[in-house]
Amino acid sequence: MSKLERNYISTRDINNKVQASECIIQGLAEDGGLYVPEFLDKIKFNLEELKNLDYPELAYTILKPFLTDFSESELESCIDSAYKSDLFDTPNLIEVTEGNGVYFMELWHGPTAAFKDMALTILPYLLTTSVKLNGLNKDIIILTATSGDTGKAALEGFKDVPNTQIFVYYPKEGVSIAQKRQMITTTGNNTHVISVEGNFDDTQNSVKEIFNDSKIKSLLNENGFRLSSANSINIGRLLPQIVYYFYSYFELVRQNKLNLGDKVNFIVPSGNFGDILAGYYALKTGLPVNKLVCASNKNNILTDFFKTGEYNLNREFYKTTSPSMDILISSNLERLLFEKLGRDSEKVTQLMKDLKTNGSYKINPELFGEFLAEYASEEEVLKTINNVYKESNILIDPHTAVGQAVYNKLANQLDEDPTIILSTANPYKFSNTVYKSIFPNPENLDEFEIQELLSEKTGIDIPEPLKNLKNKDIKHTLNTTKEKMKEVILNELNINYEK
Ligand SMILES: *Cc1c(COP(=O)(O)O)cnc(C)c1O
Repeated sequence: MSKLERNYISTRDINNKVQASECIIQGLAEDGGLYVPEFLDKIKFNLEELKNLDYPELAYTILKPFLTDFSESELESCIDSAYKSDLFDTPNLIEVTEGNGVYFMELWHGPTAAFKDMALTILPYLLTTSVKLNGLNKDIIILTATSGDTGKAALEGFKDVPNTQIFVYYPKEGVSIAQKRQMITTTGNNTHVISVEGNFDDTQNSVKEIFNDSKIKSLLNENGFRLSSANSINIGRLLPQIVYYFYSYFELVRQNKLNLGDKVNFIVPSGNFGDILAGYYALKTGLPVNKLVCASNKNNILTDFFKTGEYNLNREFYKTTSPSMDILISSNLERLLFEKLGRDSEKVTQLMKDLKTNGSYKINPELFGEFLAEYASEEEVLKTINNVYKESNILIDPHTAVGQAVYNKLANQLDEDPTIILSTANPYKFSNTVYKSIFPNPENLDEFEIQELLSEKTGIDIPEPLKNLKNKDIKHTLNTTKEKMKEVILNELNINYEK
């Protein structure tokens, strides 16, 4: 295949084709769709060749065919900067540990203690390389809506990166105390952290609207800026997430828990559907997977979708103890629909229109044979944290607990294959919930004191990025409404405009 054949196409217009670097810069396609690799079916990785690579080597091998217009040395340098640095607290980047009958893929050994670090440590390098490849003479504005973890991971990734400005919007009441504290104490001369009245869906929708607002885009353009995204709508976020599916598989082979070629199940605590979609890309490119299990919390719109084929937004939104999964509009599902509907971009466009106007759409649920879906109630989440600690002496965070609880419900449908639960956040990011699940209610202690107490009682260490949060200076206090989100950008950048 020549370089030119290796295009990315938009889910809403298959004739909208760009190279990898261009879609990393754009984030969202101009037509409102998401970019997907046109050549996905042409990539098949050879397990035998990959099985003994270390994480950076594996990342190189997997990203190479996707990053079509990156040179070998450019890609190597991105990988070295992110994955051969001291940003992670283990040289393997991730660990696979055995729980009670399952494996946990620990994805929280990075700088902000959540799985978002796996991609957001490398995205700034992919993006700055893309800017260079396109000869763009502009500063990049990263616009990000966060349900808690993306925000901090993006801020750490982009902080002080030359020629970038990063804006993070978080729902004011929708993130945990530790998540909020992590974000608002971020240093760096290019970071902007803003709380928004409303929930994550409001925030994410308004960010998407800014991307589709030609007026603000041209205003920014005139002033030397270009918009891009660090959310998982950006293919540069998604691709690095394919790597750990392969890595954890090979890790089980190396631990003699699995024969090369045998199948495994993955349980993925899901919100925006980015993480599990990366698992689907791994499956498509040769990883032996039996089932990909979409695990949801009480906001179980995806569970209903996989069971009935109907995606229906006309429902209550709940704030749960797993806030990074409190999402009703799972953006990346559009990429899966596109594949499953035979890449019919007109059909996808129609469904997305239906969703916008009626709040729902329906398709044939039998299209999704590799997927299973289930959800966990709040009570089940708390009970599961308790059980896992009592049985295995492992602390899991509420998001991972959703995965474990769903596993408990579905185990009999997963054949005999080993099951890997994606452990998406360090438990100390949600100390309050974890503590209360295991020990009697502590009175009059704040989140940070509870964190200390939890560590004292369990003997399990608090990771470096979550220590001392209480004593760090608060740097960001801006608050806005969803209508005013774009004005904030212009104000922060000192751009004059007509109100
Ligand atoms: C973001 C996040 C998720 C959900 O991942 P998606 O890619 O949005 O589906 C799950 N758990 C944690 C801790 C997260 O930060």
